[in-house]
Amino acid sequence: MATTESSNPREIAQRQLEKAAKILNLEPSTLNVLSHPKLVLEVGLPVRMDDGSVKVFTGYRSQYNDARGPYKGGIRYHPQVTRDEVIALSAWMTWKCAVVDIPFGGGKGGIIVDPHKLSKGELERLTRRYAAAITPIIGPAKDIPAPDVYTDGQIMSWIMDTYSMMTGARTPHVITGKPLEVGGSKGRDQATARGTLLTAREAFRAKKLDPARATIAIQGFGNAGQNCAVLAKEILGGGKVIAVSDSKGGIYNSEGFDVAKLVAHKAKTGSVTGFPGAKAITNEEILEVNCDLLIPAALENQITASNAARIKAKIVCEAANGPTTPEADEILYKNGVTVVPDILANAGGVTVSYFEWVQGFNWYPWSAEQVNERLEEKMVRAFHDVWQISQDKKVHMRTGAYCLAVSRVAKSLSILGVWP
Ligand code: NAD
Repeated sequence: MATTESSNPREIAQRQLEKAAKILNLEPSTLNVLSHPKLVLEVGLPVRMDDGSVKVFTGYRSQYNDARGPYKGGIRYHPQVTRDEVIALSAWMTWKCAVVDIPFGGGKGGIIVDPHKLSKGELERLTRRYAAAITPIIGPAKDIPAPDVYTDGQIMSWIMDTYSMMTGARTPHVITGKPLEVGGSKGRDQATARGTLLTAREAFRAKKLDPARATIAIQGFGNAGQNCAVLAKEILGGGKVIAVSDSKGGIYNSEGFDVAKLVAHKAKTGSVTGFPGAKAITNEEILEVNCDLLIPAALENQITASNAARIKAKIVCEAANGPTTPEADEILYKNGVTVVPDILANAGGVTVSYFEWVQGFNWYPWSAEQVNERLEEKMVRAFHDVWQISQDKKVHMRTGAYCLAVSRVAKSLSILGVWP
């Protein structure tokens, strides 16, 4: 184990893979194949700004592994996007799709940009330029992008439209996370959060705790975090959201928040901060709040060796990708904190993306009930598969999830062989 803690997501993803490979006795050649992305595309994106100047942005698309099916994974717009981060995220997508057993490999994309600083016109021109640049490598049977941090249904629609125009055929299933009006799936907007809460509910039950009595803290109040707050009562059968945060800071109230009012406050002011009756806390403090369920739903490397020992939650359920470092994992495991890992806990999004893709291929939409029922079935089964492995092998759930995912991908790889 490294003595200094790395925050490089690619190094972290590699260590997690190697740990599972060791437990699985994976052949060195298979581990070697699984340690490399198949293709990483970097694109320069000249964009005409509103003031007439031209700025050049950098974008990426990483296609990690397609042994189980076409590459699948979101596109992130963030000033801190790096090549290594995109590669790590594409590796995690590979394992995530395998954990929930959907027929996809792993991919991810990103552009180094703060989209909040762009006008709508600039955002559209940047998005369409990126879509055109990655068109040669994406496609419904090749690579199917989706939303991630600071991208949304509008951006997915521009990508779908650009791809369709460049290929000359309307292609809804080249991308998921679209609005319903242009071929999206019912339930997609809340799917990640629904999946996170379903796995949290199963974790409470597995630990013989009552999910309906849970006090909940959520870091990040975007698609994943906000919907976790909104759906908590429905899925846990109760529970109380006592702390939330976003990039501007956090708030706490031991009595619990009126979530509908909080959502309205965020919509009106752009932040959860300043919500009446709440105490201000920082994004570091929210992780250490006295609660039963902690849901990191923002960015990577939030729970590290320096704060893991102070986490009081009984269950950490990772809506975000990569919020916990490997060093922190060991500390939490020793302290009896159950971590439902990202590649399981936030797989609801990609699962309903898979349903959206199937509906696109068939030009036949499903009902919300069909989507949610099938999502629940997938998430509950995946949770118990991973729980069982972690119990049998006496490892934490992340390593259990990796063992399941890596063995599935390795199996497909061995059937396909190495060509030529
Ligand atoms: P989003 O853009 O909708 O929301 C991000 C939220 O994080 C915002 O509330 C923002 O204010 C907050 N934030 C940003 N920087 C922060 C910081 N330093 N501290 C605290 N909060 C901060 O993004 P999202 O789609 O909700 O994604 C959040 C996480 O969930 C990411 O790790 C993403 O990869 C993961 N995820 C999302 C989906 C999905 O379907 N949206 C699926 C799987 C995983």
